[in-house]
Amino acid sequence: MNLRYAIFPADPGAHLFQVSLELDDPDPLGQAFALPAWIPGSYLVRDFARHIVRLRALDPAGRRVRVAKTDKHTWRCAPLPAGQGLTLAYEVYAYDLSVRAAHLDTTHGFFNGSSVFLLPAGREREACRVHIFAPRERRYRDWRLATALAPAPGTTPGSFGTYLAADYDELIDCPVEMGRYVAGHFTVEGVAHEIAITGRVPQLDLARLTTDLARVCAVHARLFEPRSRRPPFDRYLFLAMAVDDGYGGLEHRRSTALLCRRDDLPHIGMKSSTEAYRRFLGLASHEYFHAWNVKRIKPAAFVPYDLARENYTPLLWLFEGFTSYYDDLALRRAGLLTPAQYLDGLADTITTVTQRSGRLKQSLAESSFDAWIKYYRQDENAPNSIVSYYQKGALVAAGLDLAIRAASAGRRSLDDVMRLLWRGYKRAGSAYAGITEDAVAPAILEATGVDLARTLRTWTRDTREPDFAALLAPLGVHAQAGPALDSPHFALLGCRVAGGAEGRITQVFDAGPAQRAGLSAGDQLVAFDGLRAGGGRLDALLARYAPGATVEILAFRRDELLRFEVQLAQHPPSKWKLALDPKASAAARRLRTGWLGAS
Ligand SMILES: [Zn+2]
Repeated sequence: MNLRYAIFPADPGAHLFQVSLELDDPDPLGQAFALPAWIPGSYLVRDFARHIVRLRALDPAGRRVRVAKTDKHTWRCAPLPAGQGLTLAYEVYAYDLSVRAAHLDTTHGFFNGSSVFLLPAGREREACRVHIFAPRERRYRDWRLATALAPAPGTTPGSFGTYLAADYDELIDCPVEMGRYVAGHFTVEGVAHEIAITGRVPQLDLARLTTDLARVCAVHARLFEPRSRRPPFDRYLFLAMAVDDGYGGLEHRRSTALLCRRDDLPHIGMKSSTEAYRRFLGLASHEYFHAWNVKRIKPAAFVPYDLARENYTPLLWLFEGFTSYYDDLALRRAGLLTPAQYLDGLADTITTVTQRSGRLKQSLAESSFDAWIKYYRQDENAPNSIVSYYQKGALVAAGLDLAIRAASAGRRSLDDVMRLLWRGYKRAGSAYAGITEDAVAPAILEATGVDLARTLRTWTRDTREPDFAALLAPLGVHAQAGPALDSPHFALLGCRVAGGAEGRITQVFDAGPAQRAGLSAGDQLVAFDGLRAGGGRLDALLARYAPGATVEILAFRRDELLRFEVQLAQHPPSKWKLALDPKASAAARRLRTGWLGAS
């Protein structure tokens, strides 16, 4: 029996979707319904049910059935005679312009099923059918629809109509975009790929975009399936929302939702690729890699997802960190980054991770486990208390890859480990139980013959980091930390100050001059050694002082003016630079070429 949903963008001006769910055979003792508390891929309890505005339950004759809430995201209907059907009708307020929720206005509509489709308790395995209605008014008559959901017979892909999902998990894993998007198409080994771009992007170079995306997607598919080179789906959809400022992505099994800056997208006549465009390609690459790593290969804690509460895993460093490593590496392999550009990006990641003292206090396993209350809920103390499982996880992936390549004389790499995990997923089929933490080192050993169990433990359970100078030397890459010249006050004063006229301190770094003097996050800098300090003047002022100088800083804390004596400090050598060693041996060059391709 199908779960039959219908969704209607009833009032774009009021940001309201109308949703209904029909059940032929509800639980006669009182059917319960719930909305997920979180959306897979974004590890924070978001309580989507708070956006349900009005909910009614009706019997087949249209009479109201009593319904009561039993917890923050669950409703229960009154008992009904056996065999009597039930319809739920409700409104969802959709005004969250992110990749994680739902948004509806007069320019477009977007939703994740986890924001709009209530699940009848106990029926997560049942097939779903959803009718998606077009908005009523004439001004929306040119809206189209883009989703990775399968159209039912009679519905043309790209049009409003009926769509199908094998179960609730698939239903909420296929976001839907509606509006006047621009679409580009390409194929990877015969598999159709589409990118649908919403938002005004003047002079968009769609041909360049699809050509470059095709190259990136082909690299990922080739990594996992060196023989067939085919991705594990029949169709893939990139949904991109272009805005003036924004960044984010959320992975799904055969699509992704992206939020980007308009300026990240290429325009006709753009000669060389810009950093912003490479960043967009990196984001698309990241989400596409997730189609294997986290949407299919999964941590054991996500098999199956428990959508009512936090799902704790110590392994986000494997699922987000490794994906972050491969996102840019794929751009390099596709020829969209030069080796030097690739190494610059890796150096930036090393710099970012090593500049923050939180890395000495939290392990990657802890960072993963506590994502729900720490990484996703960062406050002003985050740099002093947490480590990013994205960034340090990417460094661990790089460290493992380099160690495997060096130990196997270039015959094996982290690619072999990913393929092993992928074969394990495919072999298990519906019995797939996911990856446990204990299984990672043995998988590396099995795939490569290299035993990195102890090393991996120090990098993920302890707070140690890969030593890149040592790991890169055998590959003919020189790594060194130098002065942090591009952010002088970062080290000299030891705090971060928001842009704008106010001069508000946003973060104070451990053991730095600002913290020692007692300056705190939230303080508003008024004067630095007798001169106005806000309005972006601080860097220029700091540049006039040598380390060791003592200055007077006046700052408001709430409405009280306070005076601080601050002894400025030396920049630590914290900015990493990676460079190809022109004098590398032939053996080192061979390893380097195996990793980064020809330079
Ligand atoms: Zn990710």
